[in-house]
Amino acid sequence: MEKKTCSFQAEIQQVLDLVIHSLYSKKEIFLRELISNASDAIDRAQYLALTDKTLAAENPEWKIDIIADKEDKILMIADNGLGMTEEELEKNLGVIANSGTKSFIKALQEQKGADQPQLIGQFGVGFYSAFMVAQTVSVITLRRGEGQKAYKWESDGAGGYTIEEAARDKPGTTIVLKLRPEFEEYLDEWRVRELVKRYSDFIAYPIRFGDKGEPPAADVAPLNTMKAIWKRDKKEVKPEEYNEFYTHITHDHIPPFKTIHMSVEGVVEFKALLFLPKEASYDLMMPNRKFGLNLYVRNVFIGADFDLLLPEYLRFVKGVVDSSDLPLNVSREMLQDDAVIRKIKSNITNKILSELADLMANDRAAYETFYAAFGRILKEGLYSDWDNADKLKKLLLFPSAKENGAKNVSLDEYLKAMPEGQKDLYYLIAEDLETAVSSPHLEGLRKRGYDVLLFVDPIDQWIVDNLREYEGKKLVAIDKGSLDLGDESEKAAEKKKLDAATADFKPLLEFIQERLKEDIKEVRLSPRMTDSACCLVADENAMSPSMERMMRAMHQEVPKQMRILELNVDHPLVKRMADMLAADKADTRLADYADLLYGEALLSEGSAPKDPARFTKLITALMVNA
Ligand code: ADP
Repeated sequence: MEKKTCSFQAEIQQVLDLVIHSLYSKKEIFLRELISNASDAIDRAQYLALTDKTLAAENPEWKIDIIADKEDKILMIADNGLGMTEEELEKNLGVIANSGTKSFIKALQEQKGADQPQLIGQFGVGFYSAFMVAQTVSVITLRRGEGQKAYKWESDGAGGYTIEEAARDKPGTTIVLKLRPEFEEYLDEWRVRELVKRYSDFIAYPIRFGDKGEPPAADVAPLNTMKAIWKRDKKEVKPEEYNEFYTHITHDHIPPFKTIHMSVEGVVEFKALLFLPKEASYDLMMPNRKFGLNLYVRNVFIGADFDLLLPEYLRFVKGVVDSSDLPLNVSREMLQDDAVIRKIKSNITNKILSELADLMANDRAAYETFYAAFGRILKEGLYSDWDNADKLKKLLLFPSAKENGAKNVSLDEYLKAMPEGQKDLYYLIAEDLETAVSSPHLEGLRKRGYDVLLFVDPIDQWIVDNLREYEGKKLVAIDKGSLDLGDESEKAAEKKKLDAATADFKPLLEFIQERLKEDIKEVRLSPRMTDSACCLVADENAMSPSMERMMRAMHQEVPKQMRILELNVDHPLVKRMADMLAADKADTRLADYADLLYGEALLSEGSAPKDPARFTKLITALMVNA
């Protein structure tokens, strides 16, 4: 094969330029990144060997060697992991494939200028960080398996890269760094040892140091303890160690929000180290994104993203599970119906939910931060995990109408704050918080001191069906049917007043009804407002918005949902229109006013008036004639 010269994908070149010219002071992280890649490559080789007999036969002593050649100022990181084919070399090291680099580029584009060096530290950007300390980087690799050839990839980071055939007798990968003169410190054993201790101690394979350009002997003591961090006593593990491990498995360089270290004995035995990230990753809401935990069986890495270990609504949780109760030669398919896996999953789910409940009770501010990032995903559990529905309900937060949406309340807090006489839990579904807090529907309830939960997250409309009641109290939509408020005598008095007014205003109600008959099912007087003149309410038996959407999605015809226009019984406008009608049946302003009322009701719930052009014209006319 001829030596090939290729250029980097434009985005990769952009990353490289930044990395090479950066003033970022923590250049030492390159070592962590390269060791992490080596460890991943061994993980993958081991995993493939579980199912591929030819690979299983090889089963070498897995190891990572760091070799320094002081004379030539060369540092090598060599592993005997999976190696790469020519195609993989080109794909993995020439175009953006991994999520770390992708989020790095995204952040790079969003944050131009001064803070860019920090970004390198935050994202690591894996392999490319080698160019911070090296003027040339070569990768010599031989892929495991029969009939593979060795290749050398080489680049100075600026002029593209070359690929050619190379000599290498054992499978694996060696990264060769021609260090720039100012970085010779990385050739010193003490410095390398310090870095391995700090960043890579938990790596499960021995990392040994060899100088004089020679690989270390197999009996040289490793620099790392290799003790799987999840197997250690949690009292002994430092927070930094947990954080480094989190970064290693997630490529997320922002430390986790919460770390949960479990060791379970009894019916099933397993250890788990779980992390709740600080921020939601960009793909959490995408369909088919991967999620799950890394599974180890007796220390052997079985695979990443085991979704059988976590319910989907906890897909933001990252971490590791290690169990000795599972067979080694496992595949995802075999584990599908495995009782041990199911037990581990339910155990982990319970643990996470109870930790969240603790957090909510003991550090509300922290819980609110968590909830802002992941609450929406958590809510999905209400329709997928019936067993835990009660626990999940307790973890919900909703903006409270009482606080004008500025504060969240849980269902328990809502119950506790209910004034005497309040029978139900009230909620209002709206497009957004702003529309919700200014809804006329709230007025009557505010007057009584009743709070209303504001459901403004699109998913809230779905969960309502699963949330019909809480602690024996019904959840009632305040814009549907008539509300059952007050005691019997109050209700009787109200009914008397409404009946009388309805009789008085009968001609007006009939007139408006006739005018709006295409859009409105009924016009009636209502006690539910204090300031507004009118609002729209759904019929008691109307289809719920989520049902309506579901039917539409299934291409079923959904009948037009006609609503009821309620007029505030105490509003002077009602009296004025009634007087106008009594004075002159043919007063053309009456039809305009009816249209305006309907437009107003639509506006107040965040919808557009039926005919916006006519609506604005009428308002202008009103102003001119006022
Ligand atoms: P990341 O490790 O975040 O995926 P990198 O930029 O560090 O991103 O590496 C890109 C890819 O190159 C890796 O995903 C892996 O497929 C491949 N790679 C890097 N180092 C090695 C190695 N030592 N052995 C085998 N493959 C490697």
